[in-house]
Amino acid sequence: MTHPTKTLTHHALGVTATLPHGRYPGLITLGCLLFLVWGAGFWLSRHIYQERETVAFEFITYQVQEAAGRIRRVLTEADQVLHDLRMAETAQTPELTPGRWDMTRYPGGAAVLAPDGHVIAASPGASTTGWPTLMARLENAPDEPVIGEPVPDKDGRALLIPIARRITKPDGAFAGLVMISLDSEALSYLPPSLEMPGGSMMLLTEADIVLSRTPALRGIVGNRLLDAALSRTIHASAEGVGSGVSLPEGQNRLHAHQHLRDMPLIVLASVSHDALFTRWQSLRRKIIATTMLATGLIALTGWLWRVRRRRADMTADILTVLLANTEHGVRVERADGTVTAVNEAGTALMALPLKTGPLTAAAQDEETRREDGGAVHITRHALKHDGTILIGTDRTARRMAEARIAFLTHHDPLTGLPNRWHATSLVQASIDQRAGNEKASNERTGPRSTAALILFDLDGFQDINDTLGHEAGDAVLVEVAGRLRELGADQDVVARLGGDEFLLFLDVPDDEATIAALADYIPRLLSQPVIVHGQQVRLGASMGIAFHPRDGRDTATLFRHADIALSRAKKAGRGRARVFAPAMMAAFEEHRMMESDLRRALENKELELRLQPQFSCETLDITGFEALARWRHPVRGDISPAVFIPIAERSGLINPLGLWALEHACQIAAGWRIRRRMAVNLSPVQLRCDTIETDIRDILHRTQFPAHLLELEVTESVLLDGDERTLETLHRLRAMDIRITLDDFGTGYSSLSYLRRFPFDKVKIDKSFVQGQSKDRMTRVILENIIRMCADLDLDVVGEGVETEEQLNELRRLKCGEVQGFLLGRPLRPVAVEGFLARHARRSSGARIDPKVALAPPA
Ligand code: C2E
Ligand code: CA
Ligand code: CA
Repeated sequence: MTHPTKTLTHHALGVTATLPHGRYPGLITLGCLLFLVWGAGFWLSRHIYQERETVAFEFITYQVQEAAGRIRRVLTEADQVLHDLRMAETAQTPELTPGRWDMTRYPGGAAVLAPDGHVIAASPGASTTGWPTLMARLENAPDEPVIGEPVPDKDGRALLIPIARRITKPDGAFAGLVMISLDSEALSYLPPSLEMPGGSMMLLTEADIVLSRTPALRGIVGNRLLDAALSRTIHASAEGVGSGVSLPEGQNRLHAHQHLRDMPLIVLASVSHDALFTRWQSLRRKIIATTMLATGLIALTGWLWRVRRRRADMTADILTVLLANTEHGVRVERADGTVTAVNEAGTALMALPLKTGPLTAAAQDEETRREDGGAVHITRHALKHDGTILIGTDRTARRMAEARIAFLTHHDPLTGLPNRWHATSLVQASIDQRAGNEKASNERTGPRSTAALILFDLDGFQDINDTLGHEAGDAVLVEVAGRLRELGADQDVVARLGGDEFLLFLDVPDDEATIAALADYIPRLLSQPVIVHGQQVRLGASMGIAFHPRDGRDTATLFRHADIALSRAKKAGRGRARVFAPAMMAAFEEHRMMESDLRRALENKELELRLQPQFSCETLDITGFEALARWRHPVRGDISPAVFIPIAERSGLINPLGLWALEHACQIAAGWRIRRRMAVNLSPVQLRCDTIETDIRDILHRTQFPAHLLELEVTESVLLDGDERTLETLHRLRAMDIRITLDDFGTGYSSLSYLRRFPFDKVKIDKSFVQGQSKDRMTRVILENIIRMCADLDLDVVGEGVETEEQLNELRRLKCGEVQGFLLGRPLRPVAVEGFLARHARRSSGARIDPKVALAPPA
C-alpha cells in the first residue's frame, strides 16, 4: 500500500492532549479561591472591628470632655468658696458663718485650719482628715488649689476628696488653710449614656492616684493605676485615647482621658473591650462560619471537579488504548478538512483521499472501494462543535467472505458448477434475453433459434460410490462436470442439480438432424471411461430433453417437461435419451391422477389381497402362500400391482398400504385350521420407515399370527443404498423369528454380494430364469448354479413363475426346494383358499403326482 502515512503520523491521536492535564493548576485555583474567601472574611471582620473601635473612642472621648467640663465647673465653684473663705479669714472676719455658703453641696463640709491644725472655724460635720499632708503641701507652695487624697467620711460610707488653699497674711506669711471636701462619687458621676456594661469613669491625680471611680470598685480608690503603658498614654498628651489593662482584674479596655485645665486632675473614661465587642464577636463568628462554609463548598467543588477530572482522564485513557488497539480507523477532521486526530488504523484505512460528499445528516454511512480493491465502510458523525469524526471499518475480508458465501449459495462446492437454484435463475435470465433478441430480430427472416434444456442422471453412480467409495464418486462427478463444461459454449448454462443430476441449457438450431446428433453425441461423450484410483470406470447417463420455446416458454414448464422426459428415459433403461413429447405429459398426468385415486382407494377399501400358494417341489404339498395386493378401480377396472406399487412407493402411500397388506394377510392366515407360512412383500421404502419394526410387532400381536410362520420378501434394492440402518432393521426382524426372503434373485447386478451382506433365510429365483431356461442354455447354467450355491449356503430356494411342466420338471431335477406359479396355483381370493386346500388334498392323495391335476382354475 502506498498511503501518505508520513504526513499523518504526527497527528497520532492525542485525546489526552486535547484535555487539560495535571493536578497542579486545579490545586492552585483552589488555593487562590480559599485565600480570597478567607481574606475577605478577615478584612470584613477587621473593618467592622475598627469601625466599632473608632465609634467607641469617639464616644468615650466625648464623655470624658463632658465629665471634665462638669468637674471643672464643680471645682471652680468649690474653689470660689475656698477663695471666699480665705478672703473672710484674711479680713479677720470674726467667725466662719457657714450660713453664708450653701455647704450642703459639700458633704465633707468646710473648715479653716491654723498651721498647727487648730480649727479656726468649721461648718457642722466638717471633716478635716488628711489636713497635715495638705498643710505640708501648701506651706511653701504658691497659691494654687491642692487636692488631697480621698478619705472616708464619718460614717465610712462615702469617700471625700479634700480641696485646700493656703491662707497668706498680708506680709506673705503662711497662716493656715481653708478646705472643703467634695463627694468623690459626685465628681466621677457617670452619665447614663455611659452606663453600659463595662463603662466606667475615673478621676485621677497627676500622680495617677485614683480619686474616684464610678461604678465603685473595691480597693482602687487611693491607689495608683497599675498599667504603665496607660500611664504613659495619659501623660503623653492633654487628651487622647488608648487601650490597655486598667484595672486589677486585668480586663482589656478602651480609654479616653483629659487633663483638667488649671487643675491637677485627669478624667479617664473607659469601656470594657469585651462588652463593646460582644456583637462584633458574634458577627465575627458568623463571618468565620460563612467563610468555613464557603471553604467547605469550595472543597466539595474541588473534590467533584477532581472526580470528574479522574473520570475524564480514565475515559481519555480508555479511548487512547481503545483507539490504539481497535481495527476501526478513527479520524477527526475540521470543517476545512484538516485532520486533527487519527489513530493508526485510521492512517492505514483512510489515508487516501476519500470520495465523500458533504454531510447531509448527523450521521451518515458510505462504503468506498480502495485502489487496491479493499472495501472500507465509513461512518461519519458531525461533532457538536466544529468538525466531523470518521470511523472506518475494513470490510475487505467481509466482502470477500460475502462473495464466497454468495458463490457457495449459488454453486456446488465440489464441481464449482451453479447449483439447482442458481441454474434456474440462469436459465430464466437466458430465456429473458432470448425473448428480447427475438423481438429485435422479428423483422428479419431465417431459422428460428431454439435452446435445449437437457437434464442428466448418471447411471450406476450409486454403485461407484458403494464399490469404490465416495472419493471416487466425487472424482467422477468432477470429471463429468468438466466434460459438460467443455460441451457448453460461454453463454450456455451448465449446472449440477444435486446428487448425480446435471443440467445443460444450450443454443441449438431447430432442426431434427442436429437434435438427433446431440442426443447421440452427449451419451457417447459421457460414456468415455474415467480413470479413478487407477481403475477404469464406465459411466452412462439418462437424458431428458425439452426445447425452448417449443416445449415451454417459461423456466418452470421447461424444467417440468425435461424432468418428465428424463423419467421416461430412465424407465427405458440405461444410457437412453428422450425428447419431451406432449404425450408424455398425458402419461404423467395419468400417473398423478392415479396417485390421488390410490389414496382414496386405501380409505375406501378398494384394495384386496390374493394369496398364491407355494409348493414343495418334490411332494407338491402346499408349504405356504404369498400375499399379493390387488386394486379394483371403480372406473378403470383391475390395476396391476406392477403399476400401482411403484406409484405408492414414490408418494409414500406404500407405508399404510404395506401395513394393511401385512395385517390383512396375517389375519387371514391366523384364521386357518392348519397353520401355514405366509409370505408378504415388503418395499424398501417401508424398511426405511422408523416405525416399521414396532408396526410389525404390533400386527403380530394383534393378529396372534406366529412370527416364525411369517416370511418377508424383500428385493435386493433394499441393500442397494448401503444403508446400515436398513440392515440393522432386517437383523432385528430376523431376531424376532421372522424369515427374510430375497425376492427376484438374479435380476440385480450383484446379487451374490448381497447374499454375503445379510443372512437371508430363503432365496426366490426370479421368473425370468425359471421361464428362460428352456430357451437359453446360458440361463439354464445360471439357474443350476444358483440352486447349487443356495444348497451349499444352506438357503431355502423357491422358483417362481412356473407355468409349464417342463419348467417344473427341470426345477425338480435341479433339486429346487419349492415352486410357485400359475401351473400349480394362481393367486386366490382368501375365501377360496379353504376349498383349494381341500381339493388339493384330495388330488395329491392319489398315488401318482400329476401336476396337471393340481392346476387350479383362475381365481
Ligand atoms: P413378486 O413379489 O415377484 O410377485 C410375484 C408376481 O408374479 C405376482 O404378480 C404374481 O401374480 C406373478 N406370478 C405368479 N406366478 C406366475 C406365473 O406363473 N407366471 C407369471 N407370468 N406371473 C406369475 P403380481 O401379483 O402382479 O405382483 C407384481 C409385483 O407387485 C410383485 O412381484 C411385488 O413385487 C409387487 N407386489 C404385489 N403385492 C404387493 C404388496 O402387497 N406389497 C409390495 N410391497 N409389493 C407387492
Ligand atoms: Ca414376492
Ligand atoms: Ca418375485
